[in-house]
Amino acid sequence: VRKLDAKEGPPKNADESAAIVEELNQTFDVSLAQMKNISEQLKKEMQKGLNQEGATVAMLPTFVSGRPTGEEKGRYLALDLGGTFLRVCEVDLCGNKEFKIQQKKYKVPLTLKEGDFRDLCDFIAECLDNFIAELNATGSILSSSLSSDANVATAAGSSSNNSTHDISSGSSNNGVEPSPIEKYQLGFTFSFPLFQTDINRGVLKQWTKGYSCTNSVHEDVVEMLQDAFLRKQVPVNIAAIVNDAVGTLMALAYSVPETALGVILGTGTNACYYEKIKDIKKWDGGETLNDEMVVNTEWGAFDCERLVLPLTVHDRKVDRESLRPRQQMFEKMISGMYLGEISRNVILHLIDRQIIFDGYSSNDFNKQHSFDTAYMSSIELDNSPDLQETRHILEDVLSIPSTSLMDRQLVKSVCEIVGRRAARLSACGIAAVLKQSNLVTSGCTIGIDGSLFEHYPCFEANMMQALKDMFGPYISYKVKFSLARDGSGLGAAIVAMLAHKNSQKAAS
Ligand code: BGC
Ligand code: MG
Repeated sequence: VRKLDAKEGPPKNADESAAIVEELNQTFDVSLAQMKNISEQLKKEMQKGLNQEGATVAMLPTFVSGRPTGEEKGRYLALDLGGTFLRVCEVDLCGNKEFKIQQKKYKVPLTLKEGDFRDLCDFIAECLDNFIAELNATGSILSSSLSSDANVATAAGSSSNNSTHDISSGSSNNGVEPSPIEKYQLGFTFSFPLFQTDINRGVLKQWTKGYSCTNSVHEDVVEMLQDAFLRKQVPVNIAAIVNDAVGTLMALAYSVPETALGVILGTGTNACYYEKIKDIKKWDGGETLNDEMVVNTEWGAFDCERLVLPLTVHDRKVDRESLRPRQQMFEKMISGMYLGEISRNVILHLIDRQIIFDGYSSNDFNKQHSFDTAYMSSIELDNSPDLQETRHILEDVLSIPSTSLMDRQLVKSVCEIVGRRAARLSACGIAAVLKQSNLVTSGCTIGIDGSLFEHYPCFEANMMQALKDMFGPYISYKVKFSLARDGSGLGAAIVAMLAHKNSQKAAS
């Protein structure tokens, strides 16, 4: 490996450039031995989380027990508060594994992500009110054609303004007139850690990703949102609150019964799975009809002690400058909120060593989070001989004064290396959950949602390769990844339905 110091300047030939790539590869390598260790440690932490409160990996009971059959029927509303958007959905469960979804997306303004949580609740209430008004006026939100290309609803409509909407469907039987919803029951997908005390009760443990609302931590999120509905006279009952990983699991399980895990690989990362209630030792939630319950692992928090994960100086810097240092360490090496920022720091380091861009950065590129993870995707996909798309992003978008082809190739390598490490670490997470739930030999389907899994080149292939490294080549016949795009809306509706039925049973 070439020894680099500030005097060395740009690589003079292909060999020198290869040596730099090799150095990066070594820095970001996750060896097979490390992968095995990471997944083993994560499994131990998961067991700790099942045994006691306050563990790093929280292993939160979700009060979702039982599996969907695909025969569920009824019309429900769903809200999905994600990293970037609020989606409001009307879900028509038709039975026979079929469903229809109408939905509208609203961009969550930055000020609301950082403001008083009550204001965010008011915003959500307004969006919902607006959605219901449209629904009542027209019987549908949009009259455009139904798409039936996926089992799980798509939200392919891109946003040109603040609110975008689209329709999708898991079925093609669109001849049926929708009947108006009489009483609105809603499933709320909430993509943050919650201590739940019931299917529709939960206090916020902490914010993650880009959120930091005041007046919310340790508060009951359902109660606060329900209050906002009351203030705005929105006639909706929150029947269930559901983590996005849980929503994803339920959504795919509606049509694919062998789905056993729900995984999110997007702005943040998380996983959930069915656990035997007798093995959730800390749980004393009383009688349940089933002997298993979905556990929300909150694996993003793994290794806050920083003992196991192969942190580089770049990871430490990203963590130090983040909204919540020393939290969500696993998430910070894997998810879309951070990958661009890790790459940006690696590239800055190459600049400072005079290796690329003639030693020049730009004001834009110096800004935290300026190098979006989506740019990494585009750069990895750039197969033009002179890397024109990469040039465009670096020079036109990020104002780097000038880039050589060698520079652009190095930047592309950085993206590939950082992205590949994220995929291998995600596989360690999946390996731990598969082992914990004894699914390695029997196999299962894993429902996955999130922009990384959906859009990031090679992410899925790199993850599967890492699983093969750990378990042998046959694992790819046993364990299937399945995209459950925007499935959490459907999943939340299914859980709301189950919860509503149960509460009616209990009342009668
Ligand atoms: C949150 C999880 C969530 C995940 C994916 C994490 O930051 O803690 O609750 O499931 O992001 O959205
Ligand atoms: Mg989401």
